[in-house]
Amino acid sequence: MHEIDLRSDTVTLPTAEMRKAISEADLGDDVFSEDPTVIKLEAEAADLTGKETALLVPSGTMANLVSVLSHCARGQELILGDKAHTFLYEAGGISAFGGVHSRQLPNKDDGTIDIDLIRASIRGADDHFPETGLISLENTHNMCYGAPLSKAYVDEVAELAHGKNVSIHIDGARIFNASVVLETAVNELVENADSVSFCMSKGLSAPVGSLVCGSEDFIHKARRLRKGLGGGMRQAGIIAAAGLEALNGMVDRLKEDHTNAGKLAEGISEIPGLSIIMDNVHTNIVYFELDNDSINGSELVISMAERGVRFFDVSTGRFRMVTHFGITSEDIDQTLSHLKNVAAS
Ligand SMILES: *Cc1c(COP(=O)(O)O)cnc(C)c1O
Repeated sequence: MHEIDLRSDTVTLPTAEMRKAISEADLGDDVFSEDPTVIKLEAEAADLTGKETALLVPSGTMANLVSVLSHCARGQELILGDKAHTFLYEAGGISAFGGVHSRQLPNKDDGTIDIDLIRASIRGADDHFPETGLISLENTHNMCYGAPLSKAYVDEVAELAHGKNVSIHIDGARIFNASVVLETAVNELVENADSVSFCMSKGLSAPVGSLVCGSEDFIHKARRLRKGLGGGMRQAGIIAAAGLEALNGMVDRLKEDHTNAGKLAEGISEIPGLSIIMDNVHTNIVYFELDNDSINGSELVISMAERGVRFFDVSTGRFRMVTHFGITSEDIDQTLSHLKNVAAS
């Protein structure tokens, strides 16, 4: 049976070019800063994001963790959205390992947080308060329909933050999806952010690895934290070689994933019993819901899996499908045809 795995873009497998690059990579000990392939990847990441320097880490979770801990002292507060990945899905690491207090403000459907609410929530030097050290935004926003944040919005939050001596971090796990759909270079999108993290192992299809980018000072702290967390990797050029292929060969094709997501969403909108808000389809992440309880949500997921189509129900009656390098236009046709049959049965 042909498997159509729409659970996440993390399921993407490395390309033939990546496997070849891995086998031919120049290697050294990266904890001694001697791996030429890692050095090359970090330089390229810094260049793409317009930051002074960059650091390779094993995962997006560690990228956000070392970023937050580099910006914030223990007891300081991080302002972030209530649907932020860092709040929901990173095992509480910022609090467990960094003693950082989190302040969640409501995310709107477009991934933004109301700017007046951010302004009102920044806390200063009153002995009663945790002092705000950092604001984190997510671009694209995973739980908010894969929505891209515009440069204008990020700039506005950055200006507000910097006016109050607060730093701003971008969780850019899917920043390249944002860049492609907004037709705005990544360095533009994060121009006024103090730091940005991005993943190579999602839509860009590399097997492992994320990058953190920022100033020399910031990356120096992040590198030390990476070591402390056990994320210092020796011949990490094995990972970086695939990452270089990802950055050079896999960015432009993300628009195919967006086209497939649009086609998937259109198709879902025509299936009786399912509902989808087309205005909330932006990049490669599609959320849809049951219209009413005539269909059982968990049975829908199981029946589809029996037909080879895998995806998650994110809450009762609500589902997420993610398009990626492993999903073709024909896979979308097949998914829709199964979905129509299963929803009608
Ligand atoms: C996937 C993801 C991460 C974490 O990445 P891992 O590599 O899975 O740890 C962080 N932020 C966002 C928005 C993500 O989607």
